[in-house]
Amino acid sequence: MNPTRIVRTVTDDIEPKDLGVTSAHEHLLCDLRSRDLQLPDDPEEQRRATEPLQIENLWWIREHHLESQTNIVLDEIDVAVSELAQFRTDGGQSMIDLTCHGLGRRPLETSAVAARSGVQVVLGCGYYVESSHPGSLRQTSIDEIARSMVDDMVVGMDGTNVRAGVIGEIGCSWPVTDEEHRVLEASALAHGETGAAVVVHTGRHASAGLDHVQRLVRLGVAPDRIVISHVDRRINDIDDAIELARTGCYLAFDCFGLEPWIAPSARGMPMPCDLERAVMLHQLCEAGFARQLLIGQDIAMKHRLCHYGGHGYSYVLRWGLPVLRHVGIPDEMSAQFLVDNPSEVFWMNGDSQGTTTKTIQDR
Ligand SMILES: [Zn+2]
Repeated sequence: MNPTRIVRTVTDDIEPKDLGVTSAHEHLLCDLRSRDLQLPDDPEEQRRATEPLQIENLWWIREHHLESQTNIVLDEIDVAVSELAQFRTDGGQSMIDLTCHGLGRRPLETSAVAARSGVQVVLGCGYYVESSHPGSLRQTSIDEIARSMVDDMVVGMDGTNVRAGVIGEIGCSWPVTDEEHRVLEASALAHGETGAAVVVHTGRHASAGLDHVQRLVRLGVAPDRIVISHVDRRINDIDDAIELARTGCYLAFDCFGLEPWIAPSARGMPMPCDLERAVMLHQLCEAGFARQLLIGQDIAMKHRLCHYGGHGYSYVLRWGLPVLRHVGIPDEMSAQFLVDNPSEVFWMNGDSQGTTTKTIQDR
């Protein structure tokens, strides 16, 4: 093992081998309201969209999860602690929390939640899709955006001493906008400074993942330092998944437990059920790509928490693993998705310097 590789959690630096059972894509405290989400047209549905989540309206929220304004905010510290503690009780050890700018990240509170629950949390940096960018980002140079990412990982985020350990989830729409491409360029620079993995929120098209990998590779990022998120809700055809895997990137099947037959606001794209996710994972293993696969649940809404009647962060451990077993994936291979592969990708260089000693323009 390269001795300079570390995993930077919000509480301390650890060795990659100590990451253990890891959910590769989650959100602990987040706020999706900055996205261009639309309220329903119907006045009755509008009323429902602003009601607090209760057992009486849980059915409606499950069917309109992105339209409910209260559902798309995770802001209760004690709830986050108990949800994460449940993940630990069920065998989880680490979580990649990709709540970057645009998703309402709260570094200090996230580090407190991690410390109280005993789970190792790696937090992301960078910018989500353009519809959530602050207006000032257009006036910020690519070097300055990159510098802010490096400082997040080396110095601390948002004026705290809590440091990020991964770049992402970097938001890409489909097609990728010019502003989003600038953030990809900055991500590649920040990766060059720190070695940290780049996790991309993939645009809503079957060939989007391939496009994002090609862009990042052209910018100098090695394919095996790139994670393409949401493969299980973007790609329905195994041939497309194999084409993406052939680039050498990591493929995150990170929507376990999300099973509406069609994703709200997904432009008609069907959402697979867990069995279909598992079948595609099995096909990718059979094709020889097991070491590039990651799994998670991308929980970012109240209705998916145990506290609100959902399945919680350990669903993938309690229910995902039996589904994988059912389709013929042996437990040792599932362990590769949960333990070995995360330790191979979610590291950064332990000797990364702050930009006070080494500026990106000096490269
Ligand atoms: Zn996410």
